[in-house]
Amino acid sequence: MRILNQDNLYSSSKTVSTIHFGFGSINKLQSILDEKIKDSNKAFPLFFVDVFFKRNLFFKKIVKYSGKYKVVFINTNSEPTTSKIDEIVNNLKLKNILPNIIVGIGGGSVLDTAKAVSNMLTNSGNSSNFQGWDLLKKPGVYKIGIPTISGTGAESTRTCVLIDKKKKIKLGMNSDYTLFDEVILDPNLTATVPKNQFFYTGMDTFIHCIESLNGSHRNLLSDSLSEQALDLATSCFSSEDMQDNNSREKLMIASFLGGQAISMSFVGLIHPLSAAISVVYGTHHCLANCIVMRAMEEYYPKEYDFFWKLVKEKKIKIPRNILNNIDKKIEKLVNSTLIHEKPLKNALGDNFKKHLSVDKLTELFKMM
Ligand code: NAD
Ligand code: ZN
Repeated sequence: MRILNQDNLYSSSKTVSTIHFGFGSINKLQSILDEKIKDSNKAFPLFFVDVFFKRNLFFKKIVKYSGKYKVVFINTNSEPTTSKIDEIVNNLKLKNILPNIIVGIGGGSVLDTAKAVSNMLTNSGNSSNFQGWDLLKKPGVYKIGIPTISGTGAESTRTCVLIDKKKKIKLGMNSDYTLFDEVILDPNLTATVPKNQFFYTGMDTFIHCIESLNGSHRNLLSDSLSEQALDLATSCFSSEDMQDNNSREKLMIASFLGGQAISMSFVGLIHPLSAAISVVYGTHHCLANCIVMRAMEEYYPKEYDFFWKLVKEKKIKIPRNILNNIDKKIEKLVNSTLIHEKPLKNALGDNFKKHLSVDKLTELFKMM
């Protein structure tokens, strides 16, 4: 059911301005960079690259960039934190490494690192000061996003999600300035993703879309993007080989469209619960979403059945032993869930706190 409220009468949304897409489109990077640096011999790009590519020398073979550049390899064992971003930015400033282009090559963790560093090179202060909505004062350094795994939509959203360990929150710098200026969507780059990780991250776009489409904060533009993204993701996951060229291409577009859709609407119940698991247990976002799906039959019954059918068919491992000592940790879990008011209102209405009592949340977490 579509419920129109005052906020839904119209909305405005900025989006990525240039998209290069297709098998082999990574080869466009050299000319994009050449074009950007041609006017100044001081200009150079700084690459943030997933550490996975250090081993297989992808960076040198595929990104045949011949100009002057700097590379920072990013380890994705833990998701980006505000303190890590501040450390990177302070180091760059200390060494006087001031690039005029930032290129992120990797999954959501690397893309968000690239976005956050770009913002913090031009906005002074600590990155935690800019977690929230529209707090950045200036555009960041020109940024190019190149996803190597599909699903989070980090390549098309106006946020970069950071964990603030001190405040125990996980929140993005939501701003038009956080959007990538250009993205390169080359499905060749996702060919090496391991099966379980491919499923966890790919499911993020499926989950963004089902949460948005089942919510009350709706509009035709985000609905259309979500429906198309959901169709493509469903087709990828339903195919016999979800990782063949055809399916990876579909998932890459689903991720991009799903990211755009979610920038214009809200997620639902799964993401707040998943964020609480990430904050309390340190579990990565996309795996945490999959763990939450164990408790979602009551809220998203059709999608719950489809999800668990796939898990069985594709022999995906979703660990059971992550959420320990729930009774002892319930206060933190409850607080880290209920902080996400907008998505919870979207999913359950203004009285969501009445439904999500401590007892109800304990019951849900124990099902996971
Ligand atoms: P990730 O970046 O954490 O990477 C997951 C794993 O996949 C890593 O081990 C990485 O090395 C590996 N990997 C990536 N590309 C590979 C390739 N081509 N071949 C082999 N291995 C590869 O994963 P993710 O799930 O894409 O990102 C999760 C992050 O995204 C979280 O920090 C989450 O908060 C964030 N996120 C951001 C947004 C946004 O809008 N900005 C939205 C959702 C999630
Ligand atoms: Zn997500």
